[in-house]
Amino acid sequence: MGLHMQVIIALLLGIKRNGHIFIGLILGVLIGFFFPKDSYPQVYNILNFIGQAFISIIQMVVLPLIVSAIIIGISNIGDSKQLAKFGSKMVLYYGIITIVAVSVAAFIALAIQPGLNAKGLVNPEIVQHIQGYVADALQYQKENMAQIFLELVPKNPFAALSEGKMIPIIAFVLIFAIALARTGEIARPLVSMFESVFAATMKVTDWIMYLAAPGIFALSATAVSTFGVGVFHNISKYVMAVLAALIVQFFIVYPTIMKIFSKVPVRKLYGAISEAIMVAFGTASSSATLPLTITCCEKRGISNKVCSFVLPLGATLNMDGTAIIQTISVIFLAQMYGVDLSPLLVCEIAFLALIASSTAAGIPGGGLITIALILNGIGLTPEQLAIGFSLLFAVERFTDMLRTICNVTSDAVVAAIIADNEGELNYELLNGQSAK
Ligand code: ASP
Repeated sequence: MGLHMQVIIALLLGIKRNGHIFIGLILGVLIGFFFPKDSYPQVYNILNFIGQAFISIIQMVVLPLIVSAIIIGISNIGDSKQLAKFGSKMVLYYGIITIVAVSVAAFIALAIQPGLNAKGLVNPEIVQHIQGYVADALQYQKENMAQIFLELVPKNPFAALSEGKMIPIIAFVLIFAIALARTGEIARPLVSMFESVFAATMKVTDWIMYLAAPGIFALSATAVSTFGVGVFHNISKYVMAVLAALIVQFFIVYPTIMKIFSKVPVRKLYGAISEAIMVAFGTASSSATLPLTITCCEKRGISNKVCSFVLPLGATLNMDGTAIIQTISVIFLAQMYGVDLSPLLVCEIAFLALIASSTAAGIPGGGLITIALILNGIGLTPEQLAIGFSLLFAVERFTDMLRTICNVTSDAVVAAIIADNEGELNYELLNGQSAK
């Protein structure tokens, strides 16, 4: 059976197992379609309240989860040789997945040419609204690369924690966790405390999942009622390019990479994480989905050692779905304004997308901010960018929901491959649970 067929079967089985969440998602899309925000603002307000409440509740556990997971992950890995091995494998697999992602995206964008003749679609009113955003994005771009890298290490870890700045938090926690692991017996009480924090946050996650169906229902309804379905006519070629690249990544690239580097059965893994995939779609946030990604992977046999190290880092740094959208969007803008897309420029765009995506936060729209890093290379004026973005904004939420699915799935794929390579995958659990 083809790998993509295995993925489809796994997803269907997963949906069967989590039928209530899937029904919530479909009902949400239908309600959003029949009750557009502009015509039914009250319905929107109620649904938006429920959706935001759900996101807030999940986000509540994300910070304690990330901090405790990384600390216990690193202390479980123990000696520095093994840590270096886990770390380098993680960077290698995340790197391969994202390099393939930007290559697929560039190839598809050059083949479909979504930006050709797109100028005729511009709505001047929307352009006005968007000027502010573009100004912010360019401001970010001005803070040059060196500054961006400097900010990755927090001067004040508590300020980073209270502001929820994920990358600086992770940088601090990583250093702190390695130090704890090296400190020996005296660090044991603190590590035990974080083990309790981790166990408690996982328990809270189990409770939160009872709210998943209404939460995902409300989130998908508000998303569809806001963007409507009409927007797709306008830039259908762009949407087509994005969908094609994400589908190739999800159905072909991940299964192939899993087959090459591990013995993990594609069907079992996709079945195991189907719940997380639906929550990723509804929340458009890999950080908010993280508690569930960890629960799904651990319940299906990926060891806590791997999950608690690889998944939190992946949810923050590995954004291949985002890299795909960024690459296609920048090529779209270049085509729209007739910028000569030499092979060198395409490689530059793809390379910058690799960096820009991994500095993006795992929150809705996180990838939109860091796209500014890539825009530098194509030499468009702020006004031209505002006009281009006015088109892309219309479908932003929709593409965000889809790219987040890829961001979350690839984290689980890499965790499964590393677990397989390192003898940290309980195959009985993986096979047994998914067969349900
Ligand atoms: N929403 C994405 C995520 O959380 C990030 C982005 O591309 O905007 O993974």
